[in-house]
Amino acid sequence: MTMSVSPDRVAAAPALGALPLVCRHCGRNADAAPVAICDDCLGPLEPVYDPARALPDRATIAGRAPSLWRYREWLPLAGEPIHSRDTGCTPLVEAPRLARRLGIARAWIKNDTVSHPSLSFKDRVVSVAINAAAAFGMRTIGCASTGNLANAVAAQAARAGLDAWVFIPHDLELGKVAATAIFAPHLVRVRGTYDDVNRLCAQAADRFGWGIVNVNLRSYYGEGSKTMAFEIAEQLDWRLPSAVIAPMAGGSLVTKLRKGFGEFLGAGLVEGTLPRIFGAQATGCAPIARLVERGDDEIVPEQPRTIARSIAIGNPADGRSAARVIRETGGWASHVGDDAIVAGIHTLAEDCGVFAETAGGTTVAAALALARSGRLLPDDELVLCITGHGLKTLEALGDLAARAPVIDARLREVAALATAAGSESA
Ligand SMILES: *Cc1c(COP(=O)(O)O)cnc(C)c1O
Ligand SMILES: [Zn+2]
Repeated sequence: MTMSVSPDRVAAAPALGALPLVCRHCGRNADAAPVAICDDCLGPLEPVYDPARALPDRATIAGRAPSLWRYREWLPLAGEPIHSRDTGCTPLVEAPRLARRLGIARAWIKNDTVSHPSLSFKDRVVSVAINAAAAFGMRTIGCASTGNLANAVAAQAARAGLDAWVFIPHDLELGKVAATAIFAPHLVRVRGTYDDVNRLCAQAADRFGWGIVNVNLRSYYGEGSKTMAFEIAEQLDWRLPSAVIAPMAGGSLVTKLRKGFGEFLGAGLVEGTLPRIFGAQATGCAPIARLVERGDDEIVPEQPRTIARSIAIGNPADGRSAARVIRETGGWASHVGDDAIVAGIHTLAEDCGVFAETAGGTTVAAALALARSGRLLPDDELVLCITGHGLKTLEALGDLAARAPVIDARLREVAALATAAGSESA
C-alpha cells in the first residue's frame, strides 16, 4: 500500500454532501437542507436515494471496515464521512437462557450498551447527523435530549472540534448529566419535561442556525437508526429474525428498523419476510403502546412519570408511524411498570451478562409480558435491541453494595460464607 496520495486523487475526492429530501405525506421534493418539515403540509421530510445507485453485495460489505459506514449506500450522504467514522458494529450476543425464559426458540441481544463512543444507540444517529452538519458547513450542533442523545452529541462534537449546545430536562440522572458535562459542551438544564425542552430547541435552531440533530437535522439523523437493522441481518449471517423488540421514545428507532430490514430485503441481501416488530414502553409514559392497544391513529400526549427517563417522551414525534409499523408487521406493543423494569435489568444481567439502563430493563420486561400473553411464539427467533448502558441509571437499582457482606481478610470468614451458600466444593 502506498502512503502518498497523488494530487489529482485529492482533487477528485468528492466533497461531503447531503442527499435531497422528499415529504413523506405529500411527496413534495426539497433540496438538501437542515429542514425536517415540509413547507406545504408540515409532514416529515425524508432523504431521497437514487434508485439506480450501485449497491454492494454481501462480500463487499463484509470486506469493509467494522463501522456503520459499511452500509453507506443506505445513509443520506454523498462522499466520504469526515466525523465519527468508527461508530457502529456492536455485538449481537446469543442469549439461550433468556430464550428459555421467554419460551421461544432463540434470542439474541443487540448490545448497543457498548456503543462507541457514548454507550448508547444514539451514537448511530449522531454519527450521521454530525456529518450532515458538516455537509451544510455548520460549526455548531445541538440537541434536545432525555440523556443518551446529550451524551452522544457532546462526545462526538468534542472529538470533531465543533461547538455543542445540549438541552436536557433539569432533573436528569447524574450519570447522564456527568457523561455529557465531561465533554464540556454548552449544557443547559431546562425546567420542564422533554417536550418543553424540544419546543425550546426548535426555536433556538431557527434563531441561531444551529444544527439541532433531532430537530432541523432530523431527516438525516433518523436514518442512522437503520444501521441497527443492517447489523442484525449481517450478524445473523444474512438472515432476518422472526421478531425484534425495541424500546420506544419518540418512536423513530422502531420505524427505522422496519425501513432498514425492508431495504435489505429490497436489495436482495436477505430473503424471507419482515420480522414482526414489537415496541416497549414504561407504563408511566406509554403513548405509543396505548395507541397500538386502542387501534386508532392519534397520539394522546402524556405527562411522563417513570424511572425510564431515556424513553419518557410524552408527545412522540414518530409515534403514529411507529404504531403503524408495529401493526403492519404483525407485532405488538407492551408497557411495563417501574418494578418490572428494575427486574428486567437484573434478568438481563443475570441471564446474559449485559448491564443495561432502564430502557433495556423495559425491553426485557416487555418481552416477558408479550411471551406470557402469547404474542411471542415457541418457534420465534427474537432480537432484543438493548440500547443504553446500566452505569448511566444507577439510581434505579438502589443500594446494590448493601447486599454484599463485608468481612475481615480471613479465610475462615470466607469459609463461613461458602458453607452458608453451599459452595464449599467447586
Ligand atoms: C432514544 C432512545 C431510544 C429510542 O428512541 P426513539 O426516539 O424511539 O428512536 C431507545 N433507548 C434508549 C436508551 C434511548 O436513549
Ligand atoms: Zn408535504
